Amino acid sequence: MTPFSHPEFDGHEEVAFCNDAESGLKAIIAIHNTNRGPALGGCRMWPYDSDDDALTDALRLSRGMTYKSALAGLDLGGGKSVIIGNPKTMKSDALFRAMGRFVDSLGGRYCVAEDVGISVADVQMMAKETEFFAGTPERGAGDPSPSTAYGVYMGIRAAVAHRLNRASVSGLTVAVQGLGSVGWNLCRYLADDGAKLIVTDIDQAAITRAVETFGATAVATDAIYAVEADVFAPCALGAIINDATLKVLRVPVIAGSSNNQLAEPRHGVELHKRGVLYAPDYVINAGGVINISHEGPDYNQEKAFAHVAKIHDTLREIFKRSQVSGVPTFEAADRIAEERFQKQPLTSSAA
Ligand code: NAD
Repeated sequence: MTPFSHPEFDGHEEVAFCNDAESGLKAIIAIHNTNRGPALGGCRMWPYDSDDDALTDALRLSRGMTYKSALAGLDLGGGKSVIIGNPKTMKSDALFRAMGRFVDSLGGRYCVAEDVGISVADVQMMAKETEFFAGTPERGAGDPSPSTAYGVYMGIRAAVAHRLNRASVSGLTVAVQGLGSVGWNLCRYLADDGAKLIVTDIDQAAITRAVETFGATAVATDAIYAVEADVFAPCALGAIINDATLKVLRVPVIAGSSNNQLAEPRHGVELHKRGVLYAPDYVINAGGVINISHEGPDYNQEKAFAHVAKIHDTLREIFKRSQVSGVPTFEAADRIAEERFQKQPLTSSAA
């Protein structure tokens, strides 16, 4: 299937393919839109079942980055790259140097960073061949997870203010799914603010730590959807809002860091109908990319985090628009993003 006729094609500006026989690199860079600036987005390494699955991921994820950066008010466009291969067995210096040359060949229209399967060290290897990279300690910002967690915390505050008329999370119960880099930092912010935590993870050691550190209540992985809480904060998996979980979810607010939380758009419509306030994932989890946008020799964490905190106001605007216009929050977010990145109305399916 060609990119132009692909179901996920959305007027992307450029889709580039690389086949480097020497290193074994097979990669795709998709640039969705650069109206606001050069396309920034992570590189994902994954053993895709087919080339088409890899292209689907590149097209979808790059489009998502355009929306994320536009809503975060960044002068950046949307792009993403994928390397077809198993990150556990196929990594090599030659592979990442070839990826660096591939990124470099686009002359700065695309800037690479980490994503699933790609570590800071991998990006540093790419950086031997290109200056168009982000998300490494040398550039100032480093690991994006703490800033992502801070953005999610501010987003939860915006959501409970809107839906529950509460000025803080103090005394509220938040169910956190996933105690990894983002989930753990989020728990810290919430606990410091007086929230009660219900947590789950597939890693028992992380659960034990959370119980000991935050006084959290632990539940089994499948039980997290049905707990009685004020907020459900998914910080592990995508597609967790689906037909099965909608049958048991009892929370008034869903606000967490996971990417692609809605299995399908209709699940977002259903949440809206039920009066469940959903904080659109790409808005609430933009803290990492906002932090990266401050990278450089003058990086100042305080300034960067003050910028991340604006996720609160952006979400308040989205929630108000949703309320006034009667459209689900994820649709209200898309409309605002489109106003910000489109120079002319889209003629594609995203319009
Ligand atoms: P991570 O890999 O550090 O943590 C994920 C955690 O989820 C792990 O502790 C893992 O054991 C747990 N987990 C896996 N399957 C689970 C299950 N079935 N039930 C409960 N827990 C489970 O990842 P992260 O960096 O913390 O990211 C979390 C989510 O946020 C991901 O969806 C990621 O795409 C998204 N996100 C992260 C960032 C960032 O800056 N790290 C930015 C934007 C979005």
